[in-house]
Amino acid sequence: MPPLEPAPRYDAIVIGAGLSGMFQLHRLRELGLSARVFEAGSGVGGTWYWNRYPGARFDSESWTYGFSFSEEILAAWDWSEHFAPQPETLRYCEFVADRLDLRRDIEFDSRIASAVYDAAANLWEVATTGGRRARARFLITAIGPLSAPTMPAIPGVEDFRGEAHHTAAWPHEPVSFAGKRVAVIGTGATGVQAITEIAKTAGTLTVFQRTPNWCAPLHNSPIDAGAMRAIRARYPEIFETCRESFGCFIHKADPRNALEVPAEEREAFYEQRYAEPGFGIWMGNFRDILIDEAANATITAFMRRKIRERVKDPAVAAALTPTNHGFGTRRVPLESGYYEVYNQPNVRLVDVRRTPIERITATGVRTSDETHEADLIVYATGFDAVTGSFDRIDIRGTGGQRLRDKWARGPRTYLGLQIAGFPNLFTLVGPHNAATFCNIPRCIEQNVEWVSALLGHMQARGWSRVEATPRAEDAWTEHVFETAQRLLLTKVNSWMMGINTNVPGKETRTFLAYAGGAPAYRKRCDEVAAKGYEGFALS
Ligand SMILES: Cc1cc2nc3c(=O)[nH]c(=O)nc-3n(C[C@H](O)[C@H](O)[C@H](O)COP(=O)(O)OP(=O)(O)OC[C@H]3O[C@@H](n4cnc5c(N)ncnc54)[C@H](O)[C@@H]3O)c2cc1C
Repeated sequence: MPPLEPAPRYDAIVIGAGLSGMFQLHRLRELGLSARVFEAGSGVGGTWYWNRYPGARFDSESWTYGFSFSEEILAAWDWSEHFAPQPETLRYCEFVADRLDLRRDIEFDSRIASAVYDAAANLWEVATTGGRRARARFLITAIGPLSAPTMPAIPGVEDFRGEAHHTAAWPHEPVSFAGKRVAVIGTGATGVQAITEIAKTAGTLTVFQRTPNWCAPLHNSPIDAGAMRAIRARYPEIFETCRESFGCFIHKADPRNALEVPAEEREAFYEQRYAEPGFGIWMGNFRDILIDEAANATITAFMRRKIRERVKDPAVAAALTPTNHGFGTRRVPLESGYYEVYNQPNVRLVDVRRTPIERITATGVRTSDETHEADLIVYATGFDAVTGSFDRIDIRGTGGQRLRDKWARGPRTYLGLQIAGFPNLFTLVGPHNAATFCNIPRCIEQNVEWVSALLGHMQARGWSRVEATPRAEDAWTEHVFETAQRLLLTKVNSWMMGINTNVPGKETRTFLAYAGGAPAYRKRCDEVAAKGYEGFALS
């Protein structure tokens, strides 16, 4: 056997070339560090590279989503719609990669299978699934909160003889639905977008729904040249508004409590929010709808009425109406005619709580009372969120400790950016980080700037090792749970709560996000830095 080639050595390795990995690479270069990015896909863009399903588009206003750090990029890029479709956002990511000349330091088609810390050398060694290795002082994960797709835990998936696609592994070539019998499994944010689009051309469409969600209208519209000029002139103000809002969206909560407002005025306010674009109805609603049951009941009743108004068949409307959670306590899908789809003669809703799917057969989907023949199955069954992409890498810290074991009962982190026992490892958009509850690029910029400043701080002092102390990690993890407690969403099973019935081991509630809001999170990170990176052991 020929001797093993020595693994190439870098100052930093980044895993993932979505927006997080792209911006991190740019900042590492500015620090004068040698860096290598490993990306499983064949191109940049992460989410926007993989999720090519019909109907995929932003829920964030496009002009609040793009990077804000570069005047040049802001000046050169025009958005064509207020909520851009996936192909446009992918083009944006490619444009950024070109402008910053990022690709020369990215290895595509390279999925990292393991990352092991070598304490003696103070180096991380990563290995791809193909066996290529590389070493670096710092390891930065940019592997995405929604990048580990999950298939449903239904027997027979591999038996199906027709065409089948998961929405997050969608073919790069167009998929035709014309005249076909299409089955869609899943009605989360992705399913809602895909169903609305597929229904336009499918011969028949059968939607298999387990948990209905409260969906709100997107109200997308084009941006013409004049409107884009006006947006560009307002960029500083737009980003400032995002910076100050809880989840870095353009929408700010109304300072009033729902029940303080007379009923008629409250209804008018809900109507107004329902008629406005984007997440205003969720993020720009009365301040207490997500924390007070009685306040939440008012908006929930309003949304229930809207479904009844929009869906002609009362039985279908009832099946589409959530009964196990109030509005906003799970991710709100934004839609463009979703409910009206169920008024079409070619569309049928199957409520799998009443008639569970027993198996996928060679020719379709068999429920407890019927076999639904299909030519094409779309799995809109989402992701093993936030921790899933970590679980899929064998990450080992000091003493060979596995991250998967350490997080078996839920993640423990310091600031959602580091983990005791895993020196020099940073987790961008990781669990317990404000980014999981965010208009994400706004939080990506904060994460990357903070990590880069810490690396610069170490560089200036000739230090080479940083590790969160167990005490700081305990305190932060405790704080994460405390802040979560006041939210109604922690009383509901959802991916935010670490629940995924399609993934063994993800049946216990924990909390994956940070619910204190992005401004409080940023303040805390800044305070930690100002105190010489309090809570970190540096040497
Ligand atoms: C359909 C969809 C719509 C969304 N819409 C919005 C929206 O409107 N607004 C919003 O704020 N957020 C939205 N999000 C969230 C979105 O994920 C973030 O906005 C953002 O793209 C995250 O960027 P990222 O770089 O952190 O992660 P990602 O974009 O997920 O990129 C992670 C990258 O890491 C790679 N990777 C993972 N594991 C490995 C490995 N082991 N080895 C090598 N590479 C690996 C993946 O291939 C991927 O390319 C949406 C997500 C989805 C799925």
